Amino acid sequence: MNDVVDRCRLLAQCTEEPGFITRTFLSDPMHAVHTHLRAWMEQAGMSVGVDHAGNLRGVYPAARLPAQRLFIGSHLDTVPHAGAFDGILGVVLGVALIERLGGRRLPFAIEVIGFSEEEGVRFGVPFIGSRALIGDVDDELLARSADAITAFGLDSSRIGEARAGDDALGYLEFHIEQGPVLESLSLPLGVVEAISGQSRLDVFVAGKANHAGTTPMNLRRDALAGTAEWIGAVEREARAIPGAVATVGRANVSPGAGNVIPGLVATSLDVRHPDDAVRHDLVDRLLRCAEQIAAGRCLTVSWEQRLDQAAVAMDSGLTQMLASAVAQAGNPVHRMPSGAGHDAMIVARRMPAAMLFLRSPGGISHHPDESVLPADVVAALEVGMRFLEALEQRHG
Ligand SMILES: [Zn+2]
Repeated sequence: MNDVVDRCRLLAQCTEEPGFITRTFLSDPMHAVHTHLRAWMEQAGMSVGVDHAGNLRGVYPAARLPAQRLFIGSHLDTVPHAGAFDGILGVVLGVALIERLGGRRLPFAIEVIGFSEEEGVRFGVPFIGSRALIGDVDDELLARSADAITAFGLDSSRIGEARAGDDALGYLEFHIEQGPVLESLSLPLGVVEAISGQSRLDVFVAGKANHAGTTPMNLRRDALAGTAEWIGAVEREARAIPGAVATVGRANVSPGAGNVIPGLVATSLDVRHPDDAVRHDLVDRLLRCAEQIAAGRCLTVSWEQRLDQAAVAMDSGLTQMLASAVAQAGNPVHRMPSGAGHDAMIVARRMPAAMLFLRSPGGISHHPDESVLPADVVAALEVGMRFLEALEQRHG
């Protein structure tokens, strides 16, 4: 059995709900996760601390001073009823890389960081840990979470100290793909080029509710039939654009009775693409489509934008270095966007960031069946070593 996989399975036992993996920000089982990780880190020659945002941080010193610092990390919290690998795999892999160095020092320090919070489960706000690392502290959130921070044995007034120093060299994150793409291509690893931007809208289609028995087909203004036609168009248009995904995930039908023609449908629209211009274009096209379909059916359409989150590109230099490491380790290089948000997206605002995906068997994540192939973990470790060697040459 693979060490890294074993360790992830062991840490999965640190949970708030017996029988499930649920571990939120600053919860009791997070202490147990820290205890295990701290022991492995110290054994590997790292000095370990917890910052006041609850991030676990182990530093492996450089060969000499002054030196820059490479961060390797991911998150330690989970969604409710999670799998054993989302987030934590990236931290355990970071520790395993330090162990592989066998005490050999590099021209830069390496800090392995286990972020306290990424999923946004406990306070409804994601990325608390990585935001603290880049010095982005939200006072309102801080006030809400102050009691939890104190209960965990930390001091919320010192959260600013979590900010990374100006000696940051970059950030590397290993993460499971959480999707089916690598498996469908029979590839173990993927090099992330960008975290896709997201648009989220509420779209309303209005017609006229009326009696289902007495209103002839040609005299209806059926909001749901119009919406259905539009949803088909959403799927068609998004399929025509490489890298785009568009989802209507919710539809509330009013009045919602079997013998009444639907008068109003409220839907959600979620559109993602690594290129913001392409995404904005697609959203515009989908809304024009809705207007055309509505006009042809005597319906009206309106919408409200809920989110317009820009894509975040990974650093081109570090990403090229990572792609070379993938090739040198004997793997095909597949570059891909991430459709989900990750800590790397936040950290990239402050320092060069790169990200490597590991294949998700069955494409399954945020579920107890989430897994990873031990051979893929070995491949990722090999890539990590090549990446460190390349950085060593650059800085030697
Ligand atoms: Zn994650």
